[in-house]
Amino acid sequence: MIRTYKPKTIKQNITKIEVPNKINSNRLRVMALGGLEEVGRNMSLIEYGDDIIIIDMGLQFPEEDMPGIDYIIPNTDYLKKNIDRIRGVIITHGHMDHIGAIPHIMGEIGNPPMFMGKMTAGLVRKRVEEHRKCPKLNIAQIDETSNIKLGQSFRVEFLRVNHSIPDCFAIIIHTPVGSVVHTGDFKIDYSPVNDKPADLNRIAQLGGNGVLLLMSDSTDATHPGYQKSESSIGDEMGQLFKKIEGRIIIGTFASQLSRIQKIFDIAEGLGRKVYLQGRSMNDNVEIARQIGYLKFNSSLLANDNEISKIPDNKLMILGTGAQGESNAFLMRVVNGDHRTVSLKDGDTVIFSSSVIPGNERSIQTLKDMIVRQGAKVVHYEMMDVHAGGHAKQEDLKLMMRLLKPRYFMPIEANHYMLRAHAELAEQVGIPKENIFVADNGQVIELVKDSQGGVNGKLTSEKVLTDYVMVDGLGVGDVSNIVLRDRRVMSEDGMIVIIATIDSKTGEQIGNPDIISRGFVYMKENRELIQKTRMKVKKIVKDHDSRTPADTDNIKNKIRNDVGQFLFKETKRRPMVLPVVIKV
Ligand SMILES: [Zn+2]
Repeated sequence: MIRTYKPKTIKQNITKIEVPNKINSNRLRVMALGGLEEVGRNMSLIEYGDDIIIIDMGLQFPEEDMPGIDYIIPNTDYLKKNIDRIRGVIITHGHMDHIGAIPHIMGEIGNPPMFMGKMTAGLVRKRVEEHRKCPKLNIAQIDETSNIKLGQSFRVEFLRVNHSIPDCFAIIIHTPVGSVVHTGDFKIDYSPVNDKPADLNRIAQLGGNGVLLLMSDSTDATHPGYQKSESSIGDEMGQLFKKIEGRIIIGTFASQLSRIQKIFDIAEGLGRKVYLQGRSMNDNVEIARQIGYLKFNSSLLANDNEISKIPDNKLMILGTGAQGESNAFLMRVVNGDHRTVSLKDGDTVIFSSSVIPGNERSIQTLKDMIVRQGAKVVHYEMMDVHAGGHAKQEDLKLMMRLLKPRYFMPIEANHYMLRAHAELAEQVGIPKENIFVADNGQVIELVKDSQGGVNGKLTSEKVLTDYVMVDGLGVGDVSNIVLRDRRVMSEDGMIVIIATIDSKTGEQIGNPDIISRGFVYMKENRELIQKTRMKVKKIVKDHDSRTPADTDNIKNKIRNDVGQFLFKETKRRPMVLPVVIKV
């Protein structure tokens, strides 16, 4: 189900103006439908005359007060009203906060052509696979040599930048009013892993030719200094891993592919096998490998059957969940819910990603539980095993110095970081009146004057950006639930319990029937099945005598109690399907 809802935050005093369907003017209009008041939901629009182009289509993870909401996507009201003017969608890189809303939005805005790098295309195709409502996308792959014309007004080029995933591009949009540069997420890395370094030479050239407006990543604008190179991080990790004697268990983001490559290389060097855990981790590694952004020998990966035989000092386990996410690999391990991995003395658990604000408590709980179970914890606070993917203050200043933009618009962060970035812009000499700290939906206009100069201003016009929330149960496709069920069944199987009760008294008639598929082989587990049968009989017998035939209640109780009982006995969580027949 997709719902819209007004955010609680108090906005600046901005008047909402109904925008006419067609704006035939020589104004260059720039706005962001998301990503100016939060980290995530990134989506920018550039308009001129009869043409609109879109940059990125990301999702935002929900706030704590939005139970049951999977994520939030940008509001497309404005685009739907202007659907005939949309010329194309450009994606800067493959992270969810830049691609996550694609399957929900593309069908609503007429499925315009899309342009993105190779790795990004692989991730986008994977992302839309499970969404039946998403039309077949028309994706063109681009690289730093591409030059595309979109509509009458735009010519677009691509500039290689670095980040924590390969194939990231800043976007250069040549318009009749001047050139706009949108950095996407970036850092400057002179020695990236499996990727080309950011093209500083070309950035300087662009600056020489004149940049009208720079829209730049503000995620790390409050951090002084330079961002570290991915390869230097790799070296630090290598030093750390060498000293560890037991098993190494690493929690990281499945999207940090550069990091994953480094970890694979180190594992290979140390003669350790890698046991890969988590669905997103396996998917991403597979995609990146097919495309050639991850390089490793397939014998490096260990499978379920092998890991009990591999000595501790020859094993490295790589999984998701370093943010304390409840269903991810690390949390399942500490909760004793994981099929094949449990912690023991001598294990070292490494958190290889920085703490996302808001996750502090769940990460602390996770660390407590790990240490309780005898393992050691290494976090980047204790030893820097993490390089962020975003430019810090000195990198941001370098970008501004090289591009020398006339106007500047900080993007991709909360308002606080945007302000910090605006201050940096002032420090490098961009006049305050040429810096636009906008809110979501607020329109920037750049207009040519009669002398051929350009005047830019932050207007008070604001297009609709109210939250659009998606919960996986009701986006209209059941595929998510079906997949969730399939995952449970594929891991631990299912057990069907058929109880027959007297519709008047609620008494059990005969013995409950039990059918197991993919859980245990019944003939070899007679005792367990017998105990389960007794358990079911007891549940039926103990039911509330005031509601003898409340089958829903009995079913729920069977599902919960038998589920717990089976977990206690087998450490597995099969799907329990109770069937209560009244006679
Ligand atoms: Zn990113």
